[in-house]
Amino acid sequence: MAELPLRSQIHSGGVTRLADHLEKPLLDTRSYRVVKLSNELEALLIHDPETDKASGAMDVNVGAFSDSDDLPGMAHAVEHLLFMGTEKYPVENEYNQYLNKYGGSSNAYTAACSTNYYFELSASAESKSAGNSLNASKESLPLSISKGQSPLYGALDRFAQFFVKPLFLEDTLDRELRAVDSENKKNLQSDPWREMQLHKSLCNKAHPFNKFSTGNYEVLHDDPIARGVKIRDAFIGFYEEHYSANRMKLAILGKESLDQLQEWAVELFSDVPNQSLKKLRWDDIPLYGDEQVGTQTFFKPVMDKRKMELFFSYPDETEQYDSMPSRYLSHLIGHEGPGSILALIKAKGWCNGLSAGAHEVCPGASYFGIGVQLTEDGLKNYKEIIKIVFNYIAMLKEQQPHRWIFEEMSKLQEVDFKFREKIPASRTTSMFSQVMQKPVPREQIMSSQSLLRTFDPAGIKRGLKHLDPDNFRFFVVSKDQETDSKEKWYGTDYKYEKIPADFMQELKRAAEASASERPAELFLPGKNEFVPQRLDVEKKEDVEPTLAPVLIRNTNSVRTWFKKDDRFWVPRANINVHMRTPLLSVTPLTSLTAHLYKELVEDALNEYAYDAELAGLEYSLSPHSQGFDVSISGYNDKMHVLLEKVLVTMRDLEVKPERFEVVKERLGRGFKNIQYADPYRQVSTFSRWLISEKTWLSEQYVDELDNVTAEDVKAFYPQILRQLFVEILVHGNLYKEDALRITDLVLNTLKPVPLPPSQWQTKRMLVPRWGTDAVYQRNLINPEQVNHCIDYHLFIGANIDYTMRAKLLLLAQMTSEPVFDQLRSKEQLGYVVSSGGVFQGTLAGFRFLIQSERDCDYLESRIEAWLVEYAKTLQEMSHDDFEAHRVGLVNRRLETLKNLNQETGRFWLHVTSEVYDFELVSKDVPEIEALTKEDMLEFYHTYFHPSSTTRAKVAVHLIAQASAEDVAKDVDPKEQRTKLATTLAQVLQQIGMTVDPTTLADKFEKADITDPASITATLKTYLESDALASEEQLATLTQQAPIVLAQILPQLGIKAKGPDTAKEVKEVKVEKKNQTVYLEDVKAWKASLPLSAGPKAVKELSAFEELDAKL
Ligand SMILES: [Zn+2]
Repeated sequence: MAELPLRSQIHSGGVTRLADHLEKPLLDTRSYRVVKLSNELEALLIHDPETDKASGAMDVNVGAFSDSDDLPGMAHAVEHLLFMGTEKYPVENEYNQYLNKYGGSSNAYTAACSTNYYFELSASAESKSAGNSLNASKESLPLSISKGQSPLYGALDRFAQFFVKPLFLEDTLDRELRAVDSENKKNLQSDPWREMQLHKSLCNKAHPFNKFSTGNYEVLHDDPIARGVKIRDAFIGFYEEHYSANRMKLAILGKESLDQLQEWAVELFSDVPNQSLKKLRWDDIPLYGDEQVGTQTFFKPVMDKRKMELFFSYPDETEQYDSMPSRYLSHLIGHEGPGSILALIKAKGWCNGLSAGAHEVCPGASYFGIGVQLTEDGLKNYKEIIKIVFNYIAMLKEQQPHRWIFEEMSKLQEVDFKFREKIPASRTTSMFSQVMQKPVPREQIMSSQSLLRTFDPAGIKRGLKHLDPDNFRFFVVSKDQETDSKEKWYGTDYKYEKIPADFMQELKRAAEASASERPAELFLPGKNEFVPQRLDVEKKEDVEPTLAPVLIRNTNSVRTWFKKDDRFWVPRANINVHMRTPLLSVTPLTSLTAHLYKELVEDALNEYAYDAELAGLEYSLSPHSQGFDVSISGYNDKMHVLLEKVLVTMRDLEVKPERFEVVKERLGRGFKNIQYADPYRQVSTFSRWLISEKTWLSEQYVDELDNVTAEDVKAFYPQILRQLFVEILVHGNLYKEDALRITDLVLNTLKPVPLPPSQWQTKRMLVPRWGTDAVYQRNLINPEQVNHCIDYHLFIGANIDYTMRAKLLLLAQMTSEPVFDQLRSKEQLGYVVSSGGVFQGTLAGFRFLIQSERDCDYLESRIEAWLVEYAKTLQEMSHDDFEAHRVGLVNRRLETLKNLNQETGRFWLHVTSEVYDFELVSKDVPEIEALTKEDMLEFYHTYFHPSSTTRAKVAVHLIAQASAEDVAKDVDPKEQRTKLATTLAQVLQQIGMTVDPTTLADKFEKADITDPASITATLKTYLESDALASEEQLATLTQQAPIVLAQILPQLGIKAKGPDTAKEVKEVKVEKKNQTVYLEDVKAWKASLPLSAGPKAVKELSAFEELDAKL
């Protein structure tokens, strides 16, 4: 065993306080302290009284850049081996066993110049999240800690030993190096890894960035052993050379007090040896030497993608943490508003997205990258895109950096930081321990990565100087291009050459272009008017939140509902404006015209959207049968600015014919696509259509598309706005005067003629009569769809009372699991099976929804068999089970509101329903608590049981036009295999796995593709051997495969062999008394139904009024 560094003296004192607090977000309830131990190890202590999890992290200032040249991956191997036993806890997995016991886990990563280790576990042994199993096993495990002590202490004790006296156990060496090897194999087919290594391999050979940092078995084991290197000694040597307390930053987060955490840090970490090593830097070695600048690289990705990356070597800004000059450049180069690079090349149809920013490589080196997602046309025009980028840079160089742009960015960063939500425990410790390696004041450990404090025009100009063709190279990524080389570590095919002289000349000209030579479309963004300035929240302590908004204006033209936030205390608000007009729902044509109007307003507002979005403000428009809604959500300070812009744009919209055509094409495609969507996504539209007076189907919109012109929109939208009744909800960090001003803004901008209540549309539903058993059948339009779909509704009535409502909610609660268990799990009808209560307009009911390869008549018979069977279940239900359901439902109803938006949503629902039942939840609870099993049985036999003559059932059947057999007839078996492989590859890619469809297809050559078991086995072999999936990924796939295959096999015309488990279909005698009617003439049927009464407000609206200016 090699000698490890000597332990330093044990210190109990000698602690230096570096910071007593950190600059932190406003709503952050954690407290912080930074101390330096006697061995120069710095520790950040975080006390979080509310946390469920505790955590610790250690960042060591050494990483892959310190690997010796003949052992690439050394730092990474040390990271793996460090966990393998310590003198105090010699059992190799002691640490992880301990963490597991307290619901915890650990991880680590190796970066260029730092190695970061962290763990997380339950904050308290008594907490609910730790679970009962914890307490049960406590006595029997040798790892148990003494009563009342925190799990965190034991974890820190074990963790500290890695840095005090690790063993690098000989017999774990081979296994860990194999783990490193498989980690590398997993990355080999990953495009981001391949791209990064190509970038590294093609940079200056003298810079450590050039190295391969992951390592593999060959370079860490076979090769060095062949050279006679004692590898274990080499790893220990690396640890001894580079690990030192003064290079380590510790972060601890727990429920305990700061004093307690500090005591533990001192007790457990003072023994970490200190060698007073110097901080690692790599100055004066250029990242790109003369050889590397002015080059172009073309390479092939594994996946089909097209993009371009521009690289410039760039000054390291680590020391400029308070000004971060590169942020100014990335803000402008990456801008998406008018005048930006993106706006111009997007308009040319060349790109889908753009990003820009400086990347720190190590202290002493950095690069600036610009990434462009290319369209097919963009790939052809990549040279033009690069020229446009240089044109834009030329424009930036021409002028002095603008203070106002910096101040705007700085303000937005400040707001974002101030109102940031809490970061989870282990992310907090891991991230902050890493930030502590930077030369930032300790009070700024949290804020230094966000806040821009100082405007540094010289720094910006220095940065701009580097964005020059002479300091530049680029990569083009695309499947089809010629290559002549292979990258050493990943095997990436590429071609690397000097940029041709003539193209370089063009670039230089572009970089020096004067204003008149540049495209006029390039200009600096204007001032962002959405930057919030006023962010104060007047928090009141001990306030009991009110349950309803109040009515602060109630006239013949407007009603304004208002509630000042008294729960969440954030500087945000929501404004919802409902403009009531009957015009939109007159015919599908008027409704379609309104939708086109909405799209055109959004199109015209595009240029503002980016600025508002940067400033955390959003708007939305929605036309619907009762009128047109506008909503604004975000920081409250500038909401009125955005609202006014939206309203003015709506009022003054100029309908441009060319934009109209673009918008119409997109909208039309959307309506057509709906008809090709999965049947279960389409079915509700038909169900709603059958019981509504006026709801239109997407096919009706499609039919009208050709009839509507730009002139129609131009003529129609002023009519929409001409006569309105306006209803407004203002909720959040706004005062009553704000809400009244917003009301005036809406009325003064649009100046609508009031729509008198006598002319409002009454919200009514068509009510199916008791005894109804109706079926509406429809063929699905997609000829290749093989899945049928049924939506089976049982109606309870219109405007039902609280007791009926409670019964319906309770029945939905009781039946949800049994429906799923029987119809999906046992009978395997299909992947989509659901049930539950439905409230549509004034009508209440219950629905079953199933999408299946089985036909709708069969599905209908199985639902009715279930209904008959459930009557017995309900009859036999024990008192305890019934009680459990009742309690479960009450608890669900009483769940606390999570954020401002959720509460706004609840209010708006009650406003738009016109019932204004804001205290509904508190009325539901006593009703639910009063229900008995007898009540439920009576309810069930009246409205649900198939033998009831008083129930009202309406079902929609969507009928597939193809079956697996039909599709099979048209598909040649050879093609089935390829298609199956391609589809599976897509599914796997969607869940983030890297898959090569060709190799996968080869695997399926011999598989029996009619047998799901065989397909699953083949897939598993491929994933293990070729795609190197993790255990976790394999487990997920094995579990999901039967469900996924049940969906895709029929689509490919593959008739699957029966499943392994026999279906549990029970024959049940269903006696129905009502006659089934098939709806042929929907108009006539709807005409035969009575209309329900309209909604009725729970109390006189005057009861909600607070009209006097009581502030
Ligand atoms: Zn690793």
